[in-house]
Amino acid sequence: MQYVSTRAAASAAASSSQQFSDILLGGLAVDGGLFLPTAYPQVTGAELDAWRQLSYADLAFEILKKFATDIPEADLRALTAKTYTKEVYKNARKGEKASQITPLRVLEEGENGTKLVLQALSNGPTLAFKDMAMQLLGNLFEYTLAKQNAQLNIFGATSGDTGSAAEYAMRGKQGIRVFMLSPHKKMSAFQTAQMFSLQDPNIFNIAIEGVFDDAQDMVKAVSNDLPFKARQKIGTVNSINWARVVAQVVYYFRGYLSATTSNDQKVSFTVPSGNFGNICAGHIARMMGLPIDKLVAATNENDVLDEFFRTGVYRVRKSSETYHTSSPSMDISKASNFERFIYDLVGRDGDRTRALFQKVETHGGFDLSGKPGADGDEFKLVAKYGFKSGKSTHDDRLNTIRDVADDYGIVIDTHTADGIKVARENLEPGVTMIVLETALAAKFNETILDALGEDAERPEGFENIEDLPQKFVVMPPDVEKMKAYIAAYTGL
Ligand SMILES: *Cc1c(COP(=O)(O)O)cnc(C)c1O
Repeated sequence: MQYVSTRAAASAAASSSQQFSDILLGGLAVDGGLFLPTAYPQVTGAELDAWRQLSYADLAFEILKKFATDIPEADLRALTAKTYTKEVYKNARKGEKASQITPLRVLEEGENGTKLVLQALSNGPTLAFKDMAMQLLGNLFEYTLAKQNAQLNIFGATSGDTGSAAEYAMRGKQGIRVFMLSPHKKMSAFQTAQMFSLQDPNIFNIAIEGVFDDAQDMVKAVSNDLPFKARQKIGTVNSINWARVVAQVVYYFRGYLSATTSNDQKVSFTVPSGNFGNICAGHIARMMGLPIDKLVAATNENDVLDEFFRTGVYRVRKSSETYHTSSPSMDISKASNFERFIYDLVGRDGDRTRALFQKVETHGGFDLSGKPGADGDEFKLVAKYGFKSGKSTHDDRLNTIRDVADDYGIVIDTHTADGIKVARENLEPGVTMIVLETALAAKFNETILDALGEDAERPEGFENIEDLPQKFVVMPPDVEKMKAYIAAYTGL
């Protein structure tokens, strides 16, 4: 399996292709594009039938081996077995089986054959779906680094979910350190406690005196110093990482296969979306031949994606125009993985994709509506890929959390509420709609209190997390100080 950049010129594509392990530790391709396989591997009906019985770990192995062809199969099987265990995904609700890793819960069954189903992806150590991919990444990194006798220093900024998922995946891993910046005193008490209570010597929490953008700017400044980055073996784990996307492909297969008894049955997915990473994995599963009917992107007030799927116009927002909402992990101004879908939509034309995303930089977006003056007319092909969308606001979120608690007796988080709201608008007779649950309610308790007048239940072990001793340093937004701090700990 070979990988190319979404911006590779047709003439260069063959010569510049790379294997899975080559792109594992990197981020963007050198031309600024994102990596995709030269062709999506296909699954047969017979494979799907056989896979219906597999455990999550074995299913992950079957799917990953189609993408990571340069890792010996026995090693890959050991990696997936170690990653997807009921001990790691132990935060299942009552009535859910932890051993299923991503258990399904039927919320509603209509007389016309409609079903509304929740797929729990948030039973891992940080109570958000990002664990599903990040945990695998931690084990893949450790494995690859050991082979190369190399080390990696992960450097990033977080406003909450990504940073904690990365730290819990990398803690105690050989050859890896994590330097994670966060805005001082700006995260919720729960999120702060989750990250700062880690005492592992390879985890460095750095609270920056400023807002998230100050922390993000420091990461950019350090990453732009290429000699420093190379000497200090700096890497990232952001949402464009290809292995993260592949790991997410697995739970679409698991969801489909668990919800059906034959491959003629129709299933759609609704995905609470921000950077388009999660739903991009659904697109890839569909392109591999998984019989997904619709892929519905649910956004919050930051509706860049909903706007595109309604109009064909992709218009990114300035950070000053980005709303701070009660589903904060979807507060994005541009969707960093969207380029992967656009590449497929424009017929895998790297020159075209490069031009469109250069226009995002120079003109803030592009228009594929086919109207006079547009940049293309490919919007008419979107339906062929199954995409639909919808949007949810703060009031919708509160109402949905209340409705779901009343109707089905469970408490959902704010992002999942956006998903359920939009899913209900897209139910069809005879089709099962699976909503991906992207976090547990305990992570966003402030809004749960507003909606229900009571606290969200905390999984066992999280009861007194705020009282644990915390390990972190506070630093001004000073790039030179930051570099000196990193160098002092790496000794490089
Ligand atoms: C990251 C995140 C999302 C958005 O996922 P994308 O892959 O960025 O689209 C949604 N919900 C929660 C809870 C998240 O942490």
